[in-house]
Amino acid sequence: MTGIKEPSFRESVDLMFNRAASLMDLPPGLEEKIRVCNATYTVRFGVRLRGQIHTFTGYRSVHSEHMEPVKGGIRYALAVNQDEVEALAALMTYKCALVEAPFGGSKGGLCIDPRQYEEHEMEQITRRFAYELAKRDLINPSQNVPAPDMGTGEREMAWMADQYARMNTTDINARACVTGKPLNAGGIAGRVEATGRGIQYALREFFRNPEDVQKAGLSGSLDGKRVIVQGLGNVGYHAAKFLSEEDGSRVIGIIEWDGALFNPDGIDVEAVRQWIVKHGGVKNYPDATHTAEGGAVLEEKCDILIPAALEGVVNMSNAERIKAPLIIEAANGPVTAGADEILRKKGTVIIPDMYANAGGVTVSYFEWVKNLSHIRFGRMQRRQEEARHELIVSELQRLDRYLGDAWSMSPDFKSKYLKGADELELVRSGLDDTMRIAYQAMSEVWHDRDDVEDLRTAAYIVAIDRVSKSYRAKGL
Ligand code: GLU
Repeated sequence: MTGIKEPSFRESVDLMFNRAASLMDLPPGLEEKIRVCNATYTVRFGVRLRGQIHTFTGYRSVHSEHMEPVKGGIRYALAVNQDEVEALAALMTYKCALVEAPFGGSKGGLCIDPRQYEEHEMEQITRRFAYELAKRDLINPSQNVPAPDMGTGEREMAWMADQYARMNTTDINARACVTGKPLNAGGIAGRVEATGRGIQYALREFFRNPEDVQKAGLSGSLDGKRVIVQGLGNVGYHAAKFLSEEDGSRVIGIIEWDGALFNPDGIDVEAVRQWIVKHGGVKNYPDATHTAEGGAVLEEKCDILIPAALEGVVNMSNAERIKAPLIIEAANGPVTAGADEILRKKGTVIIPDMYANAGGVTVSYFEWVKNLSHIRFGRMQRRQEEARHELIVSELQRLDRYLGDAWSMSPDFKSKYLKGADELELVRSGLDDTMRIAYQAMSEVWHDRDDVEDLRTAAYIVAIDRVSKSYRAKGL
């Protein structure tokens, strides 16, 4: 690819879209209609802080309204710009279509370095931004439902929801105006871990398909697989923690803003997370080697590479040297279109962002449904389920007594079986099911069509096909 310019994030998304669309038989003109962003609203607003007015720039982009509300996070970062927000909004459209979350795609961003402000200042800024968006129905339970993204979390979502509720005092569904709220403000159990949990479920499903595992030159299960994770934020942390604590994978590398940690024997993810909370970075962490040039660890030998931070980290300058045979894109757009081509030629299997990180929006969907139904999942069924299980257990106990030494119930069967599912278990089960079904849809196209070389193109084909069907059903 020498001499070819690195595509921007937005160009990358368009290139990947075009690659898939060229393999489809869409009615003339529909391809462009789906690809372009419907509208992007730019807002500049002033907030009086420390005796002076500070002007902030924010965006909310709506990519596709084939289904409403539209959905997607709000990012707080200095690098936020219109192109980035539009690329992210487009990815939301395809992501929602792929995992069958009934939303169009949207995304927002505010140019800000949150570390420069006190909590009460962040609240003032966030409420003002939310006011500007809500005034134009860009925050609204039936039109546009934001969520957390980089630089935002439960705290910001609670402020936004409260701001919307203050402006719409008679809206009984006000809480459904944003997702990713804290539990005590209308959130749902399992939303914080959701994207990382989705990565785990995606990888489990991948490893349930030996043919696919073989395409990556790997074998067996997740047990013992060497993992390198880039970015130990909410997504990277949960993914790495679950894989190492529950699936037997070995996290050998962690890349953060102040360098990377490497230890071929494995790194304790929870201990590193606590170290970062205390010290602000990974430097001086005692149980691994620290490299100041973190990017070099992306190129280390491993089985699974998880880029879980910014877009464009795997690009044309390092793609050739990436040794991982399997990359799962926990971040949005971590592999540029240029790098994607290089890696594809090398035979690297990439589990694409629009599938891999869809756990967040999937659980957001559950939260939105919970808010609209005004009841916690499992509240009606749980005890009834337990009562029915109790009946079976007492029959088994009778049998146990009758059979004497010949048979007995396994020691923990009773307690496990008697417990009805709570909200967290139901959320995880819904997420697991979503990730399995979406993987099957994507891999079916990958296997069945000779002209589809990779999972990303397959994912785009599934998503574009569903969006185009929605448009056609609407008469477009
Ligand atoms: N910001 C997340 C994403 O990129 C979550 C979006 C949502 O929950 O609506 O998928």
